[in-house]
Amino acid sequence: MPAILPRIKEKRIFMNTLDQFLAAAEHPERYAAKLKSEGASIIAFLCSYTPEELIHAAGLHPMRLFGTRGPIMRADGHLQAYCCSLARGTLEQALAGDLSFLDGAVFPHTCDTIQRLSDIWRLNTSFGFFADVVLPVKLDSKSAQDYFADVLGRFKAELEEWTGREITEDSLRRSIETFNAVRSSLERLYRLRSADPGIMAGSRMAAVIRGSMIMDRNELPGMLDRLIEEAESGIYREPPGKDKKRLILSGGICDHPDFYTALEDSGGVVAWDDLCTGSRFFNGTTETSGNLPAALARRYSRRLICPAKHLSTTARAERLLEIVREHRADGVIFFLLKFCDPHAFDYPWLKEFLEKHNVPNTLIEVEHQLPPEGQLKTRLETFIQTL
Ligand code: SF4
Ligand code: SF4
Repeated sequence: MPAILPRIKEKRIFMNTLDQFLAAAEHPERYAAKLKSEGASIIAFLCSYTPEELIHAAGLHPMRLFGTRGPIMRADGHLQAYCCSLARGTLEQALAGDLSFLDGAVFPHTCDTIQRLSDIWRLNTSFGFFADVVLPVKLDSKSAQDYFADVLGRFKAELEEWTGREITEDSLRRSIETFNAVRSSLERLYRLRSADPGIMAGSRMAAVIRGSMIMDRNELPGMLDRLIEEAESGIYREPPGKDKKRLILSGGICDHPDFYTALEDSGGVVAWDDLCTGSRFFNGTTETSGNLPAALARRYSRRLICPAKHLSTTARAERLLEIVREHRADGVIFFLLKFCDPHAFDYPWLKEFLEKHNVPNTLIEVEHQLPPEGQLKTRLETFIQTL
């Protein structure tokens, strides 16, 4: 039976709260090793449709994987080179033994790549727990909602069987409250930064989001409250940049803190984003009464949608335009991982939609490594000068 995640009693000594997020974001394997030494069981996930609340309520620690920035070789024996570097990089880490801290992994069915990676993972790795969570693709019908809640109920039963412990209604409610608190705090921090981007550099904000997908969720609400207080007090303030253009970053994941720095050096700033490593991760809260798996299904269906799921054909574009207007953005940067089919298919009509509404936009495609700094800055400066 895996150990239940303990509450960490020891006080960690760091300079400030942000340092703790930066350390976890930079070295998740060290953070994981510390959790393991305290008796935690760690369950990996790759997609923000993963019902983390259920994993947490089972007494396990959910941890998002982001792939590798190093060379990818072993994974090439299982996945074609035209799969996204997130899937190839994560499999590379697993096959190389870099994820030995894991006790299992969960694969929500979203894009084709994650669905196929799930089979390859199951057949080629030997972590203790494995689950496919076969979510509906279309999210807005009554039958989809009922099915979604059933799937979550089944996932709950799989977790209970593996841990040998019941996930009680109370423990699930407490986990939902924890995740609601984390999401609300992240949104608050984003809103503070949208109103005053100098409050914290973009690369640091990205580390806070990344860290929130890695760190002990029992500690996060308190840490985020402290971080917000410290940010408001001005201790993370960056030297003010004049006339920076306000931009929205739209895509799947952005795991490149240096991109934010290159953008800020080029005269822009990310005012908000439409990323699953950003606002899509914290958008929406879950009700804490009634049928809790159904409440979770509603939140995951109503949060900002990604192109691997469907609402109406125009839902994503309309929401992106709302974000542009709400955050007074000068333009949009589509930040796409090469070979990410869902986002690549969405891009042409999102671009057309934005252009119809006179929103300037550009496309930056990256792999697990960014293009050379000089090349990237030239492209960003060229776009920013047109705004
Ligand atoms: S972009 Fe969508 S499918 Fe891809 S990892 Fe993010 S939430 Fe999951
Ligand atoms: S949504 Fe795109 S980046 Fe995410 S796993 Fe699928 S193909 Fe890769």
